[in-house]
Amino acid sequence: KTFEDFNFNKQVLSAIADAGYETPTPIQVKAMPSILNGQDVLGIAQTGTGKTAAYVLPIIMKLKYAQDNDIRALIVAPTRELAIQIEENVRLYAKYTDLRIVALYGGLGPKTQIEQLKKGLDILITTPGRFTDLYLEGHIATKKLQILVLDEADKMMDMGFMPQINKILEVVPQKRQNLLFSATMSAKVEKLSENFLLWPTKVEV
Ligand code: AMP
Repeated sequence: KTFEDFNFNKQVLSAIADAGYETPTPIQVKAMPSILNGQDVLGIAQTGTGKTAAYVLPIIMKLKYAQDNDIRALIVAPTRELAIQIEENVRLYAKYTDLRIVALYGGLGPKTQIEQLKKGLDILITTPGRFTDLYLEGHIATKKLQILVLDEADKMMDMGFMPQINKILEVVPQKRQNLLFSATMSAKVEKLSENFLLWPTKVEV
């Protein structure tokens, strides 16, 4: 399989070439077609397998260009470190598009993040706590949300983020695409995936 087999647009293919990726990794080969088709996906994959690109590349392909001012894709990650890492990946893969990317996490004052949200954005990467805080203060509009990703879901469950995840699920549109990635399949992740995913395609590496 090559990246050309997935009908990515030129913007995405150029960014992949710049990143130096020659062939898609197994999780990318297995997950990308279903994500591009609009299906919900449950991905069991460890860090280091290329799981981030497996969902970010299709998201960039689907959103295409900047539109509206409200978020259309929301990526939730357990830690500030992971949120920053995902943000760097999204910026790299979206470099030939005009998609607007914002990342929210604790440890920094929220002022700059609130300013960025005001300017409008397409893709938001966030930790659960910072999202719920800024949402409750009215800084995040979720009506246009199309794609919701929970990354490292097992870690989010272990860290006790279930209430914040449930809050997020309450405030996003019912009709949306859901992607859940986890390194392991624990009982808590199983329960979360039952609540969160609709007829998911399960992919494992
Ligand atoms: P991740 O599992 O998302 O943390 O990715 C692990 C590393 O693999 C990252 O440094 C990516 O830049 C890299 N990577 C992702 N996809 C590919 C690919 N198809 N070929 C080579 N490296 C990749």
